Amino acid sequence: MMTTTSTIPFDIERIRADFPILDQEINGRKLVYFDNAATTQKPIPVIEALMNYYRGYNANIHRGIHTLAEKATADFEASRRAVRDFLNAPSAEEIIFTSGTTMSINLVAQTYGRHFLKEGDEIIISGLEHHSNIVPWQMLAGEKGLTIRAIPVLENGELDLYTFEGMLSERTKIVAVNHASNSLGTVNPVKEIIAKAHAAGAVVLIDGAQASSHLDIDVQDLDADFYALSAHKIYGPTGLGVLYGKRALLEAMPPYMGGGEMIKEVTFEKTTYNDLPYKFEAGTPNIADVVALKAAIDYITKIGKPNIAAYEHQLLQYATEQIGQMDGIRLIGQAKEKISVLSFVLEGVHHQDIGIILDQQGIAVRTGHHCTQPVMDRFCILGTTRASFAMYNTMEEIDKLVAGLQRVKKLMA
Ligand code: PLP
Repeated sequence: MMTTTSTIPFDIERIRADFPILDQEINGRKLVYFDNAATTQKPIPVIEALMNYYRGYNANIHRGIHTLAEKATADFEASRRAVRDFLNAPSAEEIIFTSGTTMSINLVAQTYGRHFLKEGDEIIISGLEHHSNIVPWQMLAGEKGLTIRAIPVLENGELDLYTFEGMLSERTKIVAVNHASNSLGTVNPVKEIIAKAHAAGAVVLIDGAQASSHLDIDVQDLDADFYALSAHKIYGPTGLGVLYGKRALLEAMPPYMGGGEMIKEVTFEKTTYNDLPYKFEAGTPNIADVVALKAAIDYITKIGKPNIAAYEHQLLQYATEQIGQMDGIRLIGQAKEKISVLSFVLEGVHHQDIGIILDQQGIAVRTGHHCTQPVMDRFCILGTTRASFAMYNTMEEIDKLVAGLQRVKKLMA
């Protein structure tokens, strides 16, 4: 048990007991789940929130005046306020529910980008981006005649900020980078990136899909214009995400999708749009999952993000030492500041074979390009094996991974 400042002690056994999925065998071995960067598992309060909603008060929100509709609406909006607190956003109206980080980024590209950018303008992304922070900008660029430039990645997996500064100009209209890389774990100095981009007059979107479960996020301190995240990566449900945007920007942007909820008045001649945040939430939203997201945020908050981060850091350090010293292993990405993601290649062995052999031992890792093909190109590799750690993982599980890799070497040598 660690010394902590949280309201409950960081008790790994107690935390593990909250995640029933972990208590199972895969191929005759106790499951070791190290695919947390892809999606995190869900604690009992999140599962119960979903069940309670469907068993007790499923109803459509905002429009109903009956008791169930009022309770569903109250819980839905309570979750929005919980997200506001989680990100330290100035107001709940600046929190838009989407289907995930991917949709949040597409929303900004297709509304802000399409409305405000013109031919010759530039968008700067980075060489560490997930495809969902590349392709939406390429689609926009193709349509509007824009140029996309990528901040280069240094050998240790950090961004080349010196080059970034030189890339900024009055043509730069949007800078879109991740807070933490899903394939290498690099934590990017986004506060500094935002300040530099603002000095050049650009608007900044931060892809927080990975950072949000590991780092304390304060969008006001960062001065982020947009911040995107996915609920399923912070122990919440799938198919749900968040877009935070500064009020003035959101108000100036046209809506993304048309339909119910996002309107004030509709006639065949003219439609007026609803106020924030509803202008961007057309149709019946993902009510149950939004309600359960609050349970996920409450769970993280109760344990305390700094406690989670400190524990995960220990896991990462231990895994880096143990795996890094194995013969034939090359660690990809060794930035000074990292979230708990360890990517590596094993000389002479295809990453898929590693994944299959580890799975036979009950160990779930991710193999491949992790939706970051430009990162793989940068390091001249086809893919990596990625072990990503969450608050419920243990040092013993890392020992099992090391033993599993020894077995891979024995079988494949
Ligand atoms: N950005 C990063 C850094 C990610 O890791 C991911 C998912 O792995 C995404 C964006 C896309 O998230 P989602 O698929 O939940 O929309």
